[in-house]
Amino acid sequence: MKNTKYVFVTGGVTSSLGKGIIAASLAKLLQERGYSVTIQKLDPYINIDPGTLNPYEHGECYVTDDGAETDLDLGHYERYLNIPTSQANNVTTGRIYQSVIDKERKGAFLGKTVQVIPHITDEIKHRIQLLGNTGDFDIVITEIGGTVGDIESLPYVESVRQLLWELGEENAIVIHLTLIPYLAAAGELKTKPTQHSVKMLMQSGVSPNILVCRTEHEISDNIKQKLALFCNVKKEDVIQSIDAETIYDVPNLMFEEGLDKVVLKKLNLKGANEPNLKKWNSFLTKHKNPKNTIEIGLIGKYVELHDAYKSISEAFIHAGAYNEVKVNIRWIHSEELTLENVPQKLDKLNGILVAPGFGERGIEGKIEAVKYAREQQIPFLGICLGMQMAVIEFARNVLLLKDANSTEMNNTTPHPVIDLMEAQKDITNYGGTMRLGAWDCKLEDNSNVKSIYKSNFISERHRHRYEFNNSYLTEFENAGMIATGKNPETNLVEVVEIPSHPWFIGVQYHPEYKSTVLNPHPLFVDFVKAALTYSLNS
Ligand code: GLN
Repeated sequence: MKNTKYVFVTGGVTSSLGKGIIAASLAKLLQERGYSVTIQKLDPYINIDPGTLNPYEHGECYVTDDGAETDLDLGHYERYLNIPTSQANNVTTGRIYQSVIDKERKGAFLGKTVQVIPHITDEIKHRIQLLGNTGDFDIVITEIGGTVGDIESLPYVESVRQLLWELGEENAIVIHLTLIPYLAAAGELKTKPTQHSVKMLMQSGVSPNILVCRTEHEISDNIKQKLALFCNVKKEDVIQSIDAETIYDVPNLMFEEGLDKVVLKKLNLKGANEPNLKKWNSFLTKHKNPKNTIEIGLIGKYVELHDAYKSISEAFIHAGAYNEVKVNIRWIHSEELTLENVPQKLDKLNGILVAPGFGERGIEGKIEAVKYAREQQIPFLGICLGMQMAVIEFARNVLLLKDANSTEMNNTTPHPVIDLMEAQKDITNYGGTMRLGAWDCKLEDNSNVKSIYKSNFISERHRHRYEFNNSYLTEFENAGMIATGKNPETNLVEVVEIPSHPWFIGVQYHPEYKSTVLNPHPLFVDFVKAALTYSLNS
């Protein structure tokens, strides 16, 4: 059993400072020094999880092996640390209140008045320590979502205050991530917003141990000294976090600034090795020195917000580095695609990816994009809804099943080639009720996917309600679209391929969730390779 130490990361001044990246970078450095580390995100909103949120609100919904629908920061944690996260790694205010209210209904509070303090804060503390209590981790980093001073963050800050007191100085510390804005007119970096946000934390009884300061310009020694004096920290505890060329530079930048060193010192962890960033840096070198450039079209309906496809764009970075290729993404709005403009909008692409999604908006454009990729022999990857669109396109244009559709879009279609799963038919609640998390899949011999994965058995993460309608399978296979991956127990179709096409794969699951810096996903690696071959030959 390890004596787990806790690092809390709070945010000040504004949102979007990149707490997730700082937490992941610190975790990476500690991991590469030999510690076992995990990261947790506490989100102060009332939704039970982000599964019911529109991607325009919070970007992508990330899915873990155990089927939790989570904040996209968990994707960063997995991509950096190369270890899976779980339901315990993301907790929302909604979930906290739900547990407390459930207990109240069961009479668990023995007639007491149930209050924010101590009942909500106790539940928060319990959730924070769940990961530590597994005994698997030397260090748990807990990122508190939102900005210090928000009303909704208060119970979290109070829980941190109590834990700091309960666990003691060398077992728990607070890193406060803050902004040092540059006023161009004055030509100066300003420390006042940071002073105020630290003061705000102190009013809640929490004194940060380390300040990580986001900045566009180098922070001078004088400014560090000033911040130290007014925020009650030592100068060495003021860490600069300057804008980086890529998020994958941040672990190195934090190492140069000594963030991991001051953390270890404060937690009284002695004798650690130097972090071994050899593999990480060999990825970075390849990422920064591509030999070729390709362009992939990403067809989706949330393309205005790139964060809605975060894991996909990051998977392209990993796969690009592996192939020593720069992958440029052309973000294409599916609602704007028509039969007439597809050749122009998809012109010169080396690969086409039709993205996941829900609902009817933009699906006809996605179907046109699939048709173009299929007919022009352009490498094609369809993910989840993208795979379903590939099936519909094939049904309409090859099997000539006019008006074939998914019952998600048209429940009176004469040809429901994509239909609601049996297990989904009686479900009325939207939250957390899809086919979620890791499921086994058996790949056919002699298929493209089998040679890509180099295995007959894989496990991939899912998030959907609809599936390929197996009553049409023979018709599809006779016409050249083959189901090359199936769930071994239920026979649900997980992968379709067109063997007569150079590279055409649709997957019902989400390969992007499992791509990491050290383990780029084989499907993305091979898709990029196929796109490169296509670009060199065209
Ligand atoms: N809307 C589709 C379904 O529920 C696809 C979901 C997705 O792309 N994640 O089956």
